[in-house]
Amino acid sequence: MRAPIQTAETICVGTELLIGHTLNTNSHFVARQLSLMGINSYYQTVVGDNPDRLLAAIRSASTRSDCVFLTGGLGPTADDITMAVAARAADRNLTLHEPSRQAILEIFTRMGREMTDNNLKQAMLPDQSIVLPNRNGTAPGCIIEFEQDGADKTLILLPGPPSELRPMFLEQVKPYLVQRTSRILRNTFVRMIGIGESKAETVLKDLIDSQTNPTIAPYAGEGEVMFRITQLAQSHDDPDNTGPLLEEVTKRAGEYIYEVGERKMHEVVADLLVERHATLSMAESCTAGLAQSMLGEIPGASRFLTGGLVAYANEVKREMLGVPAELLEREGAVSEACAIAMADGCRLLFGTDYAVGITGIAGPDGGTPEKPVGLVHLAVSDANGCETRVMRINGNRARVRGVAALNAFDLLRRRILG
Ligand code: ATP
Ligand code: MG
Repeated sequence: MRAPIQTAETICVGTELLIGHTLNTNSHFVARQLSLMGINSYYQTVVGDNPDRLLAAIRSASTRSDCVFLTGGLGPTADDITMAVAARAADRNLTLHEPSRQAILEIFTRMGREMTDNNLKQAMLPDQSIVLPNRNGTAPGCIIEFEQDGADKTLILLPGPPSELRPMFLEQVKPYLVQRTSRILRNTFVRMIGIGESKAETVLKDLIDSQTNPTIAPYAGEGEVMFRITQLAQSHDDPDNTGPLLEEVTKRAGEYIYEVGERKMHEVVADLLVERHATLSMAESCTAGLAQSMLGEIPGASRFLTGGLVAYANEVKREMLGVPAELLEREGAVSEACAIAMADGCRLLFGTDYAVGITGIAGPDGGTPEKPVGLVHLAVSDANGCETRVMRINGNRARVRGVAALNAFDLLRRRILG
């Protein structure tokens, strides 16, 4: 029986990370997963494609932590050194792993390409390691369990591309870690909108301060607030005891809660539309397609998103959406009346059950004393009429656009729910 994993740290390998060419999202992803599992992580390292420095980094990390994650550098080229260096750190030899060679060969055959000798390198794995097949690429990952100065240590090697690393972690590494950890955390996420972070904390302050198990902690979000309720269980059979705390949170802040779980606002709205077999179109001015692009990330979005348009220019608002010229003249493009006319016109144009209109001033220029940067008007139109929301959003252009889209979805959500 190997000792439980209580501490872990991450080493991301790649010169492109060091020089700022690639944003290190892998350490962010792994750190979040470790935190959700209650595994403490105190260090993160980035090291270039250099064998000596990588070996030194692995050695010092495995001195401090029970488990070391290594990401990147598992490719077929000469600068991909992670597997060989990790094997050296654990004092293991590399040998050809036949199932991995087969899997790589199959990928090449499927792509109609010839497998070159250097691809064989990706099937060279440390003796006695746990191989992690890669469903989304050629390089398998692996888990090396070894001893260092009499203590149980684990190296977990994962491919660099996030599209390969994330599923490999969730499908294979997470179940492994569950076996190897003694702490069992149960997490419930509560997502809120329409309440500021400080107000939410005030409303829940005594709960945040006094709770020991389960605990509740706030997380900052862009234009929304998230709380994580965490139960520390003794065993997997321990009953879930987060219910009463969730009930108390709902009693105090229920009107702001849009999701208890993992879904984001636009995913909640998408599910509602699908459930009701309803269709949606959107006319976006200041968000310029951002809201529709968010929906586009959801598989099967075409089931409910019929179409939409970017309506920046007044001519587009007039000619495509039928916003009256005198309305634009009198109220301006950033106005409640214009948002309503955009939503109504969009619903007519696309023949959908719901339509959203978004118009505002994203900045940094274009603000006036009456209509400052960050002023956004939102409207949702359906067969029974229109609903609007006006926002004054702080922050830069990206934040104004993001929070505007988020609130457009919230307005739509409330309208659908009635
Ligand atoms: P490949 O077989 O594609 O070469 P690899 O395991 O060797 O994979 P790297 O060569 O280190 O991985 O990186 C491949 C790509 O994966 C990088 O170009 C980058 O786009 C992405 N990547 C690598 N490391 C990270 C990281 N820490 N965060 C985000 N993306 C990363
Ligand atoms: Mg590579």
